[in-house]
Amino acid sequence: MPGMAHEDAAGHAETRRGGPGGAATPAGASTGQSPEADGAGRARPTGRAGLVPAGIAACLFDLDGVLTRTAKVHAAAWKEMFDAFLRAWPGRAEQPFRPFEIATDYARHVDGKLRADGVRSFLASRGIALPEGADDDPPTASTIHGLGARKNDLVLDLIRERGVEVYAGSVRFVEATRDAGLRRGVVSASKNCREVLVAAGIAHFFEVRVDGAVAAEEGLGGKPAPDMFLAAAARLGVEPARCAVFEDAIAGVEAGHAGGFGWVVGVNRGDQADALRAGGAHTVVDDLDELLEG
Ligand SMILES: [Mg+2]
Repeated sequence: MPGMAHEDAAGHAETRRGGPGGAATPAGASTGQSPEADGAGRARPTGRAGLVPAGIAACLFDLDGVLTRTAKVHAAAWKEMFDAFLRAWPGRAEQPFRPFEIATDYARHVDGKLRADGVRSFLASRGIALPEGADDDPPTASTIHGLGARKNDLVLDLIRERGVEVYAGSVRFVEATRDAGLRRGVVSASKNCREVLVAAGIAHFFEVRVDGAVAAEEGLGGKPAPDMFLAAAARLGVEPARCAVFEDAIAGVEAGHAGGFGWVVGVNRGDQADALRAGGAHTVVDDLDELLEG
């Protein structure tokens, strides 16, 4: 495999300089500058095994869009829930059934939003208003939160039935960080983070998990606030300047920037490389695989 010899050599050199808590200084931490960039404005990893800039001791990964392809599962669950709701909606007597379209309705009204906001926004687009209900409404309730609970139950069913697809390049990168002795955490707004990690078969890679459930318990602000990433760094016992953040969302790279993390990597899954850079990413890649070749 190309680059193997280089990775071995670099890895041994870094190992001698010390692990977490050792004397290595993060690129950028001592000077307040971004990690060293090449001509293309891309940070050049110089640290352990050539994976991360020198001094980085821990990697904090977002889940959906970075490690797993769960966006597809969420879209499918939204469609199943809304189509069943629309078919049974008494107010539709005057108009023919028009299904929830993933390409348009999901993208416009649901994607990236908190669950209740997505329900409200799509229903409004069809001229339907439901009572808000409460956060703990059961899935049988005809409320905004009840429909959100139905969608969440479907997501969990789909995850159990179909499993979760991972980004193979990300898994290879995570494996490489483990082999290089870097600490590893997952930071996700999802309350289903643990189930998704288990279904994807990657839970064992991560030492700490700060997810939607933890955030609710501890009153942590969601991205773009840095709270959840800071909590993960604290659990690992690694200062933010020595942590790398891997994020596919603008709000996520903004959180990494706001928290003063030593290396913020934007993962461009669509066409938003510039926006990720503007949000504070030191480096933007299309896939974490690219970092293995450096
Ligand atoms: Mg994401």
